[in-house]
Formats: sequence, structure tokens, C-alpha cells
Amino acid sequence: MTYLTRRSTFSAAHRYYDPALSPEENRRVFGPCVGRHGHTYTLEVTVRGDVEQRTGFVMDLGELARLIDREVMSVMDHRDLNEEVPELRGLQPTTENVAIVVWKRLAPHLVGATLHRVRVREGEDLWADYYGEP
Ligand SMILES: [Zn+2]
Repeated sequence: MTYLTRRSTFSAAHRYYDPALSPEENRRVFGPCVGRHGHTYTLEVTVRGDVEQRTGFVMDLGELARLIDREVMSVMDHRDLNEEVPELRGLQPTTENVAIVVWKRLAPHLVGATLHRVRVREGEDLWADYYGEP
């Protein structure tokens, strides 16, 4: 089994806020993330599969890049994650939830390889990994 990872970056804005809570409670729960702010996210998509004898590939990297562009970049890059990503409406657009949404957008479209891990980094010191449902 071979694992192949493609890294991409995108920039997006978000805020954490629960409309059921008062402004003070929101600030207590979410801290400074209550205010709208942006990140440059790093996305790592790892697929796994057998290396094909003829090509030496786990999967066609161009195809993987096009898929990430279509399913993630066109939806999240330079967007407001709270407002513009339908799957995140009603959820906090945390690193964890972004990783789950990316997984759900990519997994059904992969051909010839299996999605293994989606890693979303919000910065140098914070990232979330999603491996799908057990
Ligand atoms: Zn943030």
C-alpha cells in the first residue's frame, strides 16, 4: 500500500459564534475567534492505493489536482466559510469541520485510489486530521 499526498493552500475568513448565546458567553466559549478573521490554510490530501505497474502512479496527480481545485479551492479559497460554504452553514467553521467537509466533497469522486486522510492546517501550530468514519 502506497500513500500519496498533495498539498495546497487557500485563504478564507471565518468566525466562531453561537446565535443562541449572548455576546459575553460567545466570547467566553470562543475567545477572540468570535471576531471575523482570516487564515491561510494548508490542505494535505492523502490517497492510498497500489502503484500501477505501467505508470508508477497511485493515481494521476493532475486528476487529483483538478479534483481539489473543483471541490475545495473553488468553494473555499477567498471565501467566507460561515456564509459561502453550504455544508458549513449551522456548524462552527473550525479546522475540524473544514477537514470533514473537504473529505465529504472529495471522497465520492476519487477513482483508482482511496482517500486516506485530509489534514487541514490553520497555522504552524494547529491542524486537524480526518480519516473518515470508522
Ligand atoms: Zn480562526
